[in-house]
Amino acid sequence: MSPIAASSAQCPVVLSGIQPSGRLTLGNYLGAIKNWVPLSDTHDCHYMLVDLHAITVRQDPKVLRDRCFEFISLYLACGLDPVKNVLFVQSHVPAHARLSWVLNCYTQMGELSRMTQFKDKSAKNVDNINAGLFDYPVLMAADILLYDATGVPVGDDQKQHLELTRDVAIRFNNAHGTKEKPIFVVPEPMIPPVGARIMGLQDPTAKMSKSGDAETDAIYLLDPPDTITRKLKRAVTDLGSEVRFDIKEKPGISNLMSILAATTGQSIDAIGAAYNGQGYGKLKGAVAEAVVECLKPVQERYQALRADEAGLMRVLRDGAARAQLKADATLKRVHEALGFIPE
Ligand code: ATP
Ligand code: MG
Repeated sequence: MSPIAASSAQCPVVLSGIQPSGRLTLGNYLGAIKNWVPLSDTHDCHYMLVDLHAITVRQDPKVLRDRCFEFISLYLACGLDPVKNVLFVQSHVPAHARLSWVLNCYTQMGELSRMTQFKDKSAKNVDNINAGLFDYPVLMAADILLYDATGVPVGDDQKQHLELTRDVAIRFNNAHGTKEKPIFVVPEPMIPPVGARIMGLQDPTAKMSKSGDAETDAIYLLDPPDTITRKLKRAVTDLGSEVRFDIKEKPGISNLMSILAATTGQSIDAIGAAYNGQGYGKLKGAVAEAVVECLKPVQERYQALRADEAGLMRVLRDGAARAQLKADATLKRVHEALGFIPE
């Protein structure tokens, strides 16, 4: 019996997630969450807290749990409607770990050792270079392929992992599906034109990360306005005084221009024209004002959402139930294709 084909969904499906490995940053917002919100009008959207990914680096259990509630509150505060979007925790849907095992057997060690994030993260965690850290992109492939996602809205840093997902999906389809009846939908990355790679404020040559060491390198979504302003005023800038977008020569200024473009909708050219010749201070002031303004509605909504833990649990249970229906159907299709005896 040939396996059932990947479903041809009515509307395109998207899936994305963020690991609760630190506090959400402006990079996570501009590169991911902000772009997730409008998609629910046109797409079947699934957004996760990827807790299984987060434990590739040691986490304090109490902090992790609190952070997961903080994350889901922030997802809601950023405008993700839990009815229009499937919001859930990765570990609540067992199919993620189960498909990941299958895909491990279709992924080469050489492919994983080429992943730049593994190289970066293992260099930073020399005492804990665990198999999960190495295998992370396979779990990510399982996350995406379980939902027949056609698109994955992520920042630029996830491009290489997405390419691996595509390669693994195509390899599995070639081995077990047919052209007419593929097992997996092969997804496309959806990388925003601006805000796809927000850089650190202290080191503008490395991306802003929630698991970074320096508090002042990142803006966190819950930073009070005066902290945001102080961090931006102290952001490292470049030699000279020209306000010009040039990532190589002027990484600090280019980053500030990207943040201003992504938070206000202005073009990089318009920002260059408006601020060149006025000194860096004026640009920094404008960026601070724009970021404070952009995060204000999120921060205003956050506290009430976070206080209602029972309400958050209802959202997560409902999301997991909806996610599981779809994920289990895909896993069944995969097991059938592999020749496993049906459960
Ligand atoms: P970690 O340091 O733990 O890896 P992170 O900040 O890189 O945390 P992830 O959970 O790995 O966050 O990624 C979540 C989403 O945020 C992904 O879509 C990723 O592409 C996006 N993202 C992360 N950092 C940035 C950034 N600096 N600029 C734009 N998008 C980003
Ligand atoms: Mg990351």
